[in-house]
Amino acid sequence: MAWSFRQLELAWGRKARAVPPSAALRKGAKIDGGLTEWCRETAATFGLPELARRVCVGWNARMQTTAGRAWWPDRLIELNPKLKEQPPEELWRTLRHELAHLIAYERAGRRRIEVHGPEWRAACAELGIPNEQPFHNLPFKRKRMKRNFAYVCPQCSTTIRRVKKIQRTVACYACCRKYSGGIFDNRFRLHEQKL
Ligand SMILES: [Zn+2]
Ligand SMILES: [Zn+2]
Repeated sequence: MAWSFRQLELAWGRKARAVPPSAALRKGAKIDGGLTEWCRETAATFGLPELARRVCVGWNARMQTTAGRAWWPDRLIELNPKLKEQPPEELWRTLRHELAHLIAYERAGRRRIEVHGPEWRAACAELGIPNEQPFHNLPFKRKRMKRNFAYVCPQCSTTIRRVKKIQRTVACYACCRKYSGGIFDNRFRLHEQKL
């Protein structure tokens, strides 16, 4: 979601941009204006003005399998950009899950609370996700290519694996360097190994 003029006006109008999202920038997140605005409005309806003023939502491309996380007192929500490839309800559920953390912390103030304790569950219910689980798994596919070919050095037994079959004749780099001055030596030719 990108900034629209309407959102920008809204934001300027209520000085939503007055607080620089330094926490987000420090953590390398890319701010999402639309989602931030939604969280601000939601926090305002919850009667949490400080949260409404400071909450910020950003995309963090460095996140691997975690769908989202919430930072407090930074009042920052980070989302995994892979959520964009998921059905939209995944994104909204994750956003609510994380906002529920910030609402729970905001209400608790200095009182220490459990991360996924009753305060968080109450906030989830109020946000319309009553049965939210502490850890939900997203079907993030790890893109890992199957390496179908293995080659072994007869000298040092080093094995290398490749996705594709090696067409050329190749030798063990380490052994060629060690014993033949870095020049190809047939003694160290890699042998294909059946997997
Ligand atoms: Zn959580
Ligand atoms: Zn070798």
